[in-house]
Amino acid sequence: SFLEYAPAPESQAILHLKSDYGLFIDGEFVEGRGTPFQTISPATEKHIATIAHASDADVDLAVAAARRAYDTTWSRMSGSDRGKYLFRIARLVQERARELAVAETLDNGKPIKESRDVDVPLVAAWFFYYAGWADKLDHAGLGANPASLGVAAQVIPWNFPLLMLAWKIAPALAAGNTVVIKPAETTSLSAMIFAEILQQADLPPGVVNIITGAGDTGSALVNHGDVNKVAFTGSTAVGRMIARSTAGTDKKLTLELGGKAANIVFDDAPIDQAIEGIVNGIFFNQGHVCCAGSRLLVQENIHDEVVDRLKARLSTLRLGDPLDKNTDIGAINSREQLERIRELSDIGESEGAERWTADCAIPENGFWFAPTIFTNVATSNRIARDEVFGPVLSVLTFRTPAEAIAKANNTPYGLSAGIWTDKGSRILAVADKLRAGVIWANTFNRFDPSSPFGGYKESGYGREGGRHGLAAYLKPASSSTAAAAKAA
Ligand code: NAD
Repeated sequence: SFLEYAPAPESQAILHLKSDYGLFIDGEFVEGRGTPFQTISPATEKHIATIAHASDADVDLAVAAARRAYDTTWSRMSGSDRGKYLFRIARLVQERARELAVAETLDNGKPIKESRDVDVPLVAAWFFYYAGWADKLDHAGLGANPASLGVAAQVIPWNFPLLMLAWKIAPALAAGNTVVIKPAETTSLSAMIFAEILQQADLPPGVVNIITGAGDTGSALVNHGDVNKVAFTGSTAVGRMIARSTAGTDKKLTLELGGKAANIVFDDAPIDQAIEGIVNGIFFNQGHVCCAGSRLLVQENIHDEVVDRLKARLSTLRLGDPLDKNTDIGAINSREQLERIRELSDIGESEGAERWTADCAIPENGFWFAPTIFTNVATSNRIARDEVFGPVLSVLTFRTPAEAIAKANNTPYGLSAGIWTDKGSRILAVADKLRAGVIWANTFNRFDPSSPFGGYKESGYGREGGRHGLAAYLKPASSSTAAAAKAA
């Protein structure tokens, strides 16, 4: 039947890498016309594979393939059939989970226990979740006969390479769109294994095209005249450029950008739980997380206790080989990112904040940054304002809930926030006043496909996840328009 597939023998193996990866266009791997580039392991700086670089002409081919697939197959297929493909992809991701986790860790530098227990299971969860939506669209309360948009151009960052790909592709396909997606230049590997999964799933050619390359490829893609939707996750600077260049076109745009989340700890918080939550909030994925709890706002009377306990806890974390399942802190994704973390940390020190670094051995090769805490931080310090995107926590204090709220909102960003307190009424009162798209209470960095994720202010606009994430890939149309479009 449609849902049956024979597990490929290689699915049992951990990882079979090719030496060269082409572009995935129209269901085939093809050579890119740009100059290929190397992908390396950030933990060892060793070469992993050669990756194709898509030129403008390759972008044209990929968009044309997506358009053809949209016109001839995908937009005409029933929602239940689209859903079956998505279920199949989800199951293949589960089947090849170990392989995907190893590839992700090798290429990105994140600890294997994170890619194995968080990233890859969430990738499968995202496809399962949106598979379930595909056949329910006509009855979902999203407007009468919601219609797909057409070709979606998607550009993603390097911090959760495969998960961001799933966040983008799953809702787009469920809603009936076709896709051209570009992974970040330092982390294309898992996307290319994912392309193999699409072949295994027999997804019709052109429904998903994966083109690798740098910012020039991303720019050519989002500015292509035949795309209907642009979805971008990455820096606020690039997001702004895309907002400008797509303004005045009829492309629907969603942007998921940076953050500088406040993790607010009141003196009645369950303290053991809060310490773990603060550590997870900023040191998960080396702090390469847009919603990382990079600003700890702690009530003044428990500041010293919390900082002492944090230092003790951080001293137990293991930094090193990301492929070792006991590793807590992996490698920084690139030399460029390491330089940025170093620079902002040095600025933090020169502006008068007090720096503490966990005492851990740093491997000789690769890109590493030991967990770092800044205390005595002023709200005006760059370390409290700029997104570091690394394992660096800034600690600030407050006395009253009102002061906590004012300090938490004192940022150009508005992606996420955390509240730690024993009082349910306080959680509701404080959450109500925080200008952040995602608010966690007595937990942090929890993700679920049914929950919309996205920001306010310079963190971008639009939501991914849940039915809001689906609506980003649909236009409401009247029954007669939709019927006419189907008949045409
Ligand atoms: P980046 O903006 O430099 O790159 C992101 C992607 O955009 C990459 O694929 C890159 O090749 C591409 N790109 C670069 N220039 C482009 C252009 N002119 N036109 C089109 N595409 C272009 O960011 P990064 O360094 O990869 O990622 C780090 C940033 O992403 C952080 O600021 C982080 O907060 C943010 N981020 C946000 C979220 C979120 O959900 N809000 C998630 C992850 C990362």
